[in-house]
Amino acid sequence: MVGSVRGEDWLRQDVNSTPGVRQPEVNARMPPVLALNVGSSTVKFGVFEAARGHLAPVLRGRIESNGAGRRLVSQDAAGGVLSETPWVAGGDDATSDLLRWVEARLAGPVAAVGHRVVHGGPDFSQAVAASEPVLESLEALAPLAPLHQQQGLAGVRALRKACPDLPQVLTFDTAFHGGHEPVADRLGLPRLWEARGLRRYGFHGLSYESVAGQLAMLDPSMAEGRVVAAHLGSGASLCALRNGRSIDTTMGATPLDGLVMGTRCGSLDPGVVLYLQQAGGLDAAGLVDLLYRRSGLLGVSGLSGDMRVLLESDSPAAREAVDLFVYRAAREVAALAGSLEGLDGLVFTAGIGENSPRIRAETCARLAWLGVELDPAANRRGSGRLSPVGAPVTVRMIRTDEERVIARHTSRLLGLDR
Ligand code: AMP
Repeated sequence: MVGSVRGEDWLRQDVNSTPGVRQPEVNARMPPVLALNVGSSTVKFGVFEAARGHLAPVLRGRIESNGAGRRLVSQDAAGGVLSETPWVAGGDDATSDLLRWVEARLAGPVAAVGHRVVHGGPDFSQAVAASEPVLESLEALAPLAPLHQQQGLAGVRALRKACPDLPQVLTFDTAFHGGHEPVADRLGLPRLWEARGLRRYGFHGLSYESVAGQLAMLDPSMAEGRVVAAHLGSGASLCALRNGRSIDTTMGATPLDGLVMGTRCGSLDPGVVLYLQQAGGLDAAGLVDLLYRRSGLLGVSGLSGDMRVLLESDSPAAREAVDLFVYRAAREVAALAGSLEGLDGLVFTAGIGENSPRIRAETCARLAWLGVELDPAANRRGSGRLSPVGAPVTVRMIRTDEERVIARHTSRLLGLDR
């Protein structure tokens, strides 16, 4: 399904085997599915048992970097930390190493691996089984997502080599936005470029699918309205949801567009790119490095792309970087309220949106004219409804669960959830 999520769909997965995809034999108790989410700053994973239309988490974890190097943190289904171990795997085999680690921990094999792939381009609007032609066509999209695409696909290739019989499924961050009206995605360029696939696609779709599904369960009347979901993490974007469907979003042809992010610049006058090339002498590789890795919060603060670090700093440049982040987020919420022709709800999610009452408060304060109000105590608690009863716009925080969405598409495509 493209661009839409219903609450019951979130809980109950329809059996939907796909012709042409090898269906693993279905046992009474299937081995679980491993969902891999290779992001710009961390690798997250989740292991889920799929049975009779339900997904049950078994194990979760993430590989993250700190000052002392990389470490793997694993958690049980309830989020309790099980282990923290130094993680020294690297190169193309990192994914195989992680699979081996997971299977050792489970004391058994996984049935399949599902991957998050950032860019599906014009051809992939739903989950697909990994195959050589599919991988080649996705690798061709790498210039449109240089920080993510190759990284994610390298793991798929490494696993195909190490475990050729293991079913692998690719799920796409662009897919949830596939139902936009053409006018929302068209760029003001000669049509030749659109014919070549250059248009706005939008990203963080697995996260928005998770948020829309949870919202439909939590608050069906809000979910049926005009809602902006704010995925504020290292990568940041907004999605305009009408009746659970994405109708517009702030990221475009690439995950560089829209909000100011940890190290990415967000929307930029295209003339600036020309200037950087002509007067700054930057070539394509230099531009990728500047715009994806050295801009955003990091570039403006000169200190860090990590919001926690900036909020704890008393440097004026750190404060200015935070102010810019909030200003742009609030401005773009208002722009998407324009696309929605009104605003009934605002949902915060991802690392900053879920954990920072201060960023939520500063963003909402700039949106008071739209009817956005916070209950300060509810905002500090960060659970349930964050706006006062009766406020024109309902504000919520919802923890995103991209791994569950990846596992759901994977088990459904392979018919593992019967
Ligand atoms: P994500 O990419 O979703 O993992 O989010 C990472 C971002 O969330 C980083 O900028 C973190 O600094 C930020 N973050 C995590 N926890 C907090 C917190 N308690 N307050 C502010 N920012 C946070």
